[in-house]
Amino acid sequence: KAYGVNELRKMFLEFFESKGHLAMKSFSLVPHNDNSLLIINSGMAPLKPYFTGAEKPPRTRVTTCQKCIRTGDIENVGKTARHGTFFEMLGNFSFGDYFKHEAIAWSWEFLTQVVGLDPERLYPSIYENDEEAFEIWNKEIGIAPERIFRFGKEDNFWEHGAGPCGPCSEIYYDRGEKYGCGKPGCTVGCECDRYMEVWNNVFTQFENDGKGNYSELKQKNIDTGMGLERLAVVVQDVDSIFDVDTLQALRNKVCEFANIKYQQDDAKDVSIRLITDHIRSATFMISDGIMPSNEGRGYVLRRLIRRAARHGKMLGIEGNFLSRLSETVIEGSKDGYPELEEKKEFIFNVLTKEEEKFGKTIDQGLDILNGMEEEMKGKGEKVLSGANAFMLYDTYGFPLDLTKEILEEKGYSIDEDGFKAAMEEQRVKARTSRKVSNYMGKDATVYDEIDPSITSEFVGYDKLSYESDIT
Ligand code: ATP
Ligand code: MG
Ligand code: MG
Ligand code: MG
Repeated sequence: KAYGVNELRKMFLEFFESKGHLAMKSFSLVPHNDNSLLIINSGMAPLKPYFTGAEKPPRTRVTTCQKCIRTGDIENVGKTARHGTFFEMLGNFSFGDYFKHEAIAWSWEFLTQVVGLDPERLYPSIYENDEEAFEIWNKEIGIAPERIFRFGKEDNFWEHGAGPCGPCSEIYYDRGEKYGCGKPGCTVGCECDRYMEVWNNVFTQFENDGKGNYSELKQKNIDTGMGLERLAVVVQDVDSIFDVDTLQALRNKVCEFANIKYQQDDAKDVSIRLITDHIRSATFMISDGIMPSNEGRGYVLRRLIRRAARHGKMLGIEGNFLSRLSETVIEGSKDGYPELEEKKEFIFNVLTKEEEKFGKTIDQGLDILNGMEEEMKGKGEKVLSGANAFMLYDTYGFPLDLTKEILEEKGYSIDEDGFKAAMEEQRVKARTSRKVSNYMGKDATVYDEIDPSITSEFVGYDKLSYESDIT
């Protein structure tokens, strides 16, 4: 049966409740007391204190559906079938309670019996020498040895520096030949979208002392993560995450606003999917109190909104459309996230303000950038100077990666070090001049003009805000 996204979320949580888990609601996208992470990017991230033992969990078995953002995947969005910057991660967690046997058996039970996936299409992978996991898959679940794939540390060992770590066992679903890359050796683990990774089971069983020595943990943990949208892709048997029920409704809205049809033009389809994704990220970020700004999380949000706005322009959408689009996000997701409905008006306001703001300068900026391209062409140059990229950023509100993306489409690149230098120079200047000039004084840039009532600057994050891989 083709269960909907909202149904699947419920089924997962109820299934693990029936296995003694406490269902907790999604934590905010903004990490709590955790400076190591800009935005929550996995179900496990907000539960870290329970894993390390810093806090006592409300129960030793917990299950969640966690909103996640991975800006590190932004290049894939719209291009692969399976990546979004925003997605929901279903997870079941054991804090020193059950371990591999139960985790594996329940993941199998959920996939094959609860949602009814064909076991013949499912393939587990294990960490190369995790014989314990191999035995469970082989003897207890009954998977033939040749259907169990062994991967190395890179893929199947979860580790972040010193601290708890351990092997993973992932579950892949074969979506059939038509999704394959056709290259020889295309099988489980191939980067193409035929064998789609659905679920990652992490068995936290070791402690890394930071020098590469591993000892067995006394308290062994289970941390699993399954993309809800990916689960829906395989259950609904559709092409990509942009075709599952809730995202399809959103995608259709984008097409309606642009007055075009999906699957008529490859480049346009990428833009359609990209907008569909970015508006989800933006809507959820704003509902968690993140505001467009020039730093940290706020800048991530700003980049997503402006990128979506630009792609909207490319599709020929007239005027502001992002807040109208977020209505559909809210409609599709308020079941799982009632806060979206509660903060609806606020979300629309923030989106509209940011879009209006960028709308004022985008056309001019694009003209200027065009001129710069002409100039480079005339001189036979391939790299935009840092000063020019910074001018676009500072005066026309073009995030660096947006300028980069536009130029890359035409075979140009940017002197990024030059950009950073120009940025730093301006920061130093701004710091001294801000003290004397009043708000929106003559030194104000496009970023300073933002209505202060909707701006919240995030402080305490010292990584440079314009770096692209922030999570
Ligand atoms: P992939 O190899 O496909 O990029 P991953 O190994 O990076 O996935 P994990 O870090 O193991 O993903 O996260 C656990 C699960 O979360 C994945 O198995 C997948 O179902 C889901 N997931 C991860 N990244 C994304 C994404 N960008 N969009 C949608 N779902 C995702
Ligand atoms: Mg990934
Ligand atoms: Mg993977
Ligand atoms: Mg994985």
